[in-house]
Amino acid sequence: MLNALNTTENEGQLVEALIEIDYTNDFVAADGHLTAGKPAQEIEARVVELMNEFEQKGDYVVLATDIHYENDPFHPETNLFPPHNIAGTNGRNFYGELEPWYQVHKDKSNVYMMDKTRYSAFAGTDLDLRLRARSIDTVHLIGVCTDICVLHTAVDAYNLGYKIIVYEKATASFNQVGHEWALTHFKDSMGAEIKE
Ligand code: ZN
Repeated sequence: MLNALNTTENEGQLVEALIEIDYTNDFVAADGHLTAGKPAQEIEARVVELMNEFEQKGDYVVLATDIHYENDPFHPETNLFPPHNIAGTNGRNFYGELEPWYQVHKDKSNVYMMDKTRYSAFAGTDLDLRLRARSIDTVHLIGVCTDICVLHTAVDAYNLGYKIIVYEKATASFNQVGHEWALTHFKDSMGAEIKE
């Protein structure tokens, strides 16, 4: 009877979550509006490789994607950054091979594309509820920027009690010092595991 209530994607196995953060044209492409540039472009293959690996294992694959509206007077980022990831623009589409990957996999039951309006994928979203509904206690983080949106997502995951794994070859920043600092912080202050 209880099996009828089982919401995990691959029954009997422990499901974990891969959370891909902001790997969009605006954050990655050479002509992106808030691009992290070359370091972000260089992780493309590893990002897609991990998306495939987790999706095929039946894990929960989340694409947490910034969304903004131009000149929103109520958004704190309006005064901090140039307009980026504006709803309905190409800048908000996924970069490189991740866009075709998403088009092929978007209807899978274990793939979830979600809007986020703040740095953290947990801020004002149903991500925590979705993870708990699937008994997920471990989050694997990839994407950009290591020291902004990945960092804030990791901080919330830590405070919510999730185990955290961060992939150094699948995260990047416009700021190499910030990238390195964030990886050290994940490891030393959050007990995160750092993988390639
Ligand atoms: Zn933003």
